[in-house]
Amino acid sequence: MKDNFLAFGAPTTAASKMLENFSAPLQATAVEKLEAAGAICIGKSNLDAFAHGGSTENSAFGPTKNAFDKDRVAGGSSGGSAVVTALNIVPFALGSDTGGSIRQPASFNGVVGVKPTYGTVSRFGVVAMASSTDVIGAFATNVADAEQVMQIMSGRDSRDATTLPDFFEIKSEAKPNQKIGLIKDFMADGVDPEVRARVNEYVDKLRLAGHIVEEVELPMAKYALAIYYIVVPAELCSNLARYDGIRYGHRAEGVKTLAELYGRTRGEGFVAENKRRIMIGSYVLSSGYFDAYYLRAQKARTLLVNEFNKLFETYDLLIGPVAPTPTFKIGENSTDPIKMYLGDIMTVPSSLAGLPAISVPAGNNESGLPIGVQLIGPSRSDADLLAIARSMELK
Ligand code: GLN
Repeated sequence: MKDNFLAFGAPTTAASKMLENFSAPLQATAVEKLEAAGAICIGKSNLDAFAHGGSTENSAFGPTKNAFDKDRVAGGSSGGSAVVTALNIVPFALGSDTGGSIRQPASFNGVVGVKPTYGTVSRFGVVAMASSTDVIGAFATNVADAEQVMQIMSGRDSRDATTLPDFFEIKSEAKPNQKIGLIKDFMADGVDPEVRARVNEYVDKLRLAGHIVEEVELPMAKYALAIYYIVVPAELCSNLARYDGIRYGHRAEGVKTLAELYGRTRGEGFVAENKRRIMIGSYVLSSGYFDAYYLRAQKARTLLVNEFNKLFETYDLLIGPVAPTPTFKIGENSTDPIKMYLGDIMTVPSSLAGLPAISVPAGNNESGLPIGVQLIGPSRSDADLLAIARSMELK
């Protein structure tokens, strides 16, 4: 499991110095449920510190390397879980997805990655990033394994008030003749040609299987990153306020004042990307800027949700790439936060809308690097999405 799940028997670090020596006093509901069903957890996997990132280069303990090329990133933030699954070290692994952290590393490592409908799986016992988009999901080498894990983990939990009553029921077969929208906005010239080619091939296979695929537009998608990088920092800076050096986790030594304790503890415990987001979040929530940024972003988010809902009046699901490129070189983007954020363009829209979205392997590029396609469905259509993905696996 990603090392932001609280579990007995190992520290829970969230890949940060802040929690380096933190030993969990409780276990995540997802872990409890899987263990009750007979699963054995063999280890915790690396992530970007506090899940802030898209490459696992932001881990305080060093980057995770891609399963297919050691010079390239695993993707992130659940990079470790994707790689251990791709290397067949485990049959499945757990991750969290706030804006793409399961789907993007799944795509970069050629495995299945499931981000369920918001509220499908209890978040109790998982270190919070942004509470309005955080979800728990799974990596597996095939869809059927992922379905089983999702079925076991899902369901209402009194310890997470946002959990939905259990709706996840594995479908034995995919619905025939589905209407599918190919998101045109994600197939623009700037997207790697081989990524577009693999998506188009998948679309051809869907058509051969009897489904109808049409191009659709999601004009609000161009604002998704702007919305996400206001709303998410706002929420995560609130969630990270608890790391003050007093309650638990890292505490700076030799300080004389309370302000110095807070400042030094947080200065030492967080990585640069955590600090960058805390500053953005504090800024957009500050009086005077709250209306101009945070409130406006939430309104724009509603417009995006409305666009998705409108499309789902006509289409059973949407399809597009997971990310604009396959895995990139370690260090290639890490000094340019904006470049990193741009890589999230295709995964954050469904996160902001709380929709289920899965990443399934769609082949490789010329250099043998994996490329995934993304299927996005209406709220609670998770089992249908997985069923159609399963039906396409051998085609
Ligand atoms: N890459 C995205 C980000 O940096 C997603 C992270 C996540 O889903 N935890 O915010």
